[in-house]
Amino acid sequence: MLMKNMPFRHRLCWSVLCGVVLAGVIALITPAQGPDKVPVARGRGGAVASVDGDATQVGINVLKAGGNAVDAAVATAAALGVTEPFSAGIGGGGFMVIRQADGQVITLDGREEAPALTTPNMFDDPDSQTGEPLPYFPERISSGLAVGEPGTLLNWETALRRYGTLGLGEALQGAIALAETGFTVDDTFVGQIERNRDRFAAFTSTRDLYLPGGSPPAVGTTFTNSDLAATYQQLAEQGTNAFYRGDIAQAIVDTVQSPPTVDNPSFRVYPGRMDRGDLDRYEVRVRPPTVTQYRGYQLYGMGLPSSGGITVAQTLELLEDLPLSALPMADAQHYILEASRRAYADRNAYLGDPEYVDVPLLGLFKEDYLRRRAATMVERQASDAATPGNPVPFQNDPSPSLTRQPELSVSQTQEGVSTTHLSVVDAAGQVVSYTLTIESTGGSGIVVPGYGFILNNELTDFDPVAPHPNTPEPGKRPRSSMSPTIMVGAPGDDQIYAFGAPGGATIITTVLGIVNNVVDFYQELPDAIAAPRLSQRNTAETLAEVGFEEKSLAETLVDWGHRFRITEEIGAATGIVIDENGEMTAVAEPFRRGGGSAMVVEQGG
Ligand code: GLU
Repeated sequence: MLMKNMPFRHRLCWSVLCGVVLAGVIALITPAQGPDKVPVARGRGGAVASVDGDATQVGINVLKAGGNAVDAAVATAAALGVTEPFSAGIGGGGFMVIRQADGQVITLDGREEAPALTTPNMFDDPDSQTGEPLPYFPERISSGLAVGEPGTLLNWETALRRYGTLGLGEALQGAIALAETGFTVDDTFVGQIERNRDRFAAFTSTRDLYLPGGSPPAVGTTFTNSDLAATYQQLAEQGTNAFYRGDIAQAIVDTVQSPPTVDNPSFRVYPGRMDRGDLDRYEVRVRPPTVTQYRGYQLYGMGLPSSGGITVAQTLELLEDLPLSALPMADAQHYILEASRRAYADRNAYLGDPEYVDVPLLGLFKEDYLRRRAATMVERQASDAATPGNPVPFQNDPSPSLTRQPELSVSQTQEGVSTTHLSVVDAAGQVVSYTLTIESTGGSGIVVPGYGFILNNELTDFDPVAPHPNTPEPGKRPRSSMSPTIMVGAPGDDQIYAFGAPGGATIITTVLGIVNNVVDFYQELPDAIAAPRLSQRNTAETLAEVGFEEKSLAETLVDWGHRFRITEEIGAATGIVIDENGEMTAVAEPFRRGGGSAMVVEQGG
């Protein structure tokens, strides 16, 4: 009752307090297992923020032993493959943004890739007379068809070789120990299995690992994954060849082509067509970052095939001429929603794998184009669905695209809400912002038998309609929303930030919100991450987190024509900021997805 009458922000603070007290009580009555999850840590010498205490600890241990931020990021990610297996792991892919101490920024694209036998209509329902795609849930997302060649392992190896100091084997040691000795099962882990119960029960390997005896492991028990420990150990000894060319490659291909389905599964399981050649050909791409100036801050993001960096940047460009910080909050939020609606319309129409699609990026970022697009935003009046602009005439390109205003199918991707983001910095100033995923929570739901990791279902990020820049094609990478970001402060304010989030297409608006909160609304990073989120993706309704409906801000925006749909939570983010004086603040979520874990090497200012 008390909570109900409180403004949302106060309720948030109230809940934090209750949470802290409750955590203390629980700590007293349960044996100490795994490090406590602390959402904010300040200090020096290096920092790690992830969704999980054990994984963050593994990263901190690497930093303490003299590893750099890339070493610690890989070690943390490998540990997340153990403790957060439904969000990330070597069966998936991801994007890593690295800032070297000298300021150079590089990105690594470890996105999954479509097998050579992929066709644009790969997800068509073979039993449909009208060419309908397979139902998204559970058939499309729980199939061998949806599995792309995993990029995560080669991403780790590439990052270590180019920018790290450890070998892959050394970086995997913390995760091997964790998989062998186990971690404490929490509510989030059990909840994720419960939500996937039918999918997991359809595959013998997944059922045996995550539904032992027919049920998820109990909260508070210790969960080990000896198959995954052995897989990591094999990779430590033999390197990535075992995965892309050796027995693990064979096991992946067998699993995709002939999923280990139980007798009489509750849905039909469609096999995929990945083969050994596909895995053999897989490469990580080293790509330049997207670079944007916003009110004096410099943002580095992930370029194509992720739409993340581009769509965040385009939204900010549409807002740049508006004095958001001086406007009443309702006006500022109105413009943020309107700008992201327009940026999403362009994203949905034009963005795809740049090795397959002539994306009109020059036009999309031409000042005239952006000005015209921004001019369609109306004061205090929400617009209906935005149509994409036509950036092609603004290209100024000596060899212009042959595309006119394209007549494309409407984007139909349905992205999951899984994924995980980790942020790491070291004492020397190397910064890593890394988002990795297996797409849906629980990926394809298929554990590779005997190897202990779940295969992704990333190919469901393609648009199952054609023609479209994001149509499935052989060797193509599905468009992503992952937005690992590094932001460097305005001159005179030398702070360096790293942040990112999970949440499918809401990743972009979560990252955008963090930027607006820091730059426009002058919030410290912990507040910017904890603050309630809105997400407008050119949909009829804007997604808002529980509690928003009770705010006067909501009332005003509804009066101006905005419509909202309330959801439990959007995007458990993590981030780190390094102050001018070298102090580091690592930030995780206080509540979302059960709360995250932030640690520093040396606690204190
Ligand atoms: N597959 C999504 C993407 O690449 C991420 C999945 C998620 O966050 O749920 O954007």
